[in-house]
Amino acid sequence: MRKPIIIGNWKMNKLQQDAKELAKELIPLVQGSLADCAVCVPYTDLICVKEVLANTKIGVGAQNAHWADNGAFTGEVSPAMLEEIGISYCVIGHSERRQYFGETDKTVNMRTAAVIKHNITAIVCVGELLEEREEGKTENVLRKQITEGFKNFSEDDFKKIIIAYEPVWAIGTGKTATAEDANATILFIRNTIKELFGENVSQNLRILYGGSMNTKNVDELMSMPEIDGGLIGGASLKAADFARIVNYR
Ligand code: PEP
Repeated sequence: MRKPIIIGNWKMNKLQQDAKELAKELIPLVQGSLADCAVCVPYTDLICVKEVLANTKIGVGAQNAHWADNGAFTGEVSPAMLEEIGISYCVIGHSERRQYFGETDKTVNMRTAAVIKHNITAIVCVGELLEEREEGKTENVLRKQITEGFKNFSEDDFKKIIIAYEPVWAIGTGKTATAEDANATILFIRNTIKELFGENVSQNLRILYGGSMNTKNVDELMSMPEIDGGLIGGASLKAADFARIVNYR
């Protein structure tokens, strides 16, 4: 059985004071949830949010990491640095990084391999652009992202991997994939993983939906058998909304 997980992606939001307040507010609200729960916060908030959430069920994650342990990579943060401060999760290959910062399937592959080597669970994002969907290319795009993104990965590596299926046209737009479409696409991802890495990996791997998931659509999305959780952007910035999503019915 795959345990559901709801993960907040705060993106480039929240100065430290606000970050601490939001984290503090969340603690009692998600205490009884059946799902696992984590928040992926800006680098500058990692330590203070980690302190606030110590000894709670809420995990703390980063939103990117380099593939090297150290070196001449100005502006980057290494997985070793994240491990040193006890970070449990890291988003890799978010569509905003693919769109604006030149992230490719190759760099997603290298970043993911490095992160899991440092005992951090990688939340690897895949998803098609609107024009790719309209041209009927969704499956080809996803197959390529999966094949290249996880090239040379072993069955064991997948114990530290979560996939987030995020149709790019649904991120921050208020447009959500229908629950049936999201479920069918996630089933396609699971079947592709099965083909490439075997039944065991595909059955144990958590695959999340992301893209304008909110308090109104979460219950329907989470009722789908293939959807193991959500990656939540905008709606994770308010404690009550995020908690309602974590406590989906
Ligand atoms: C995201 O940032 O991964 C995301 C899904 O954003 P939103 O929920 O705002 O669409």
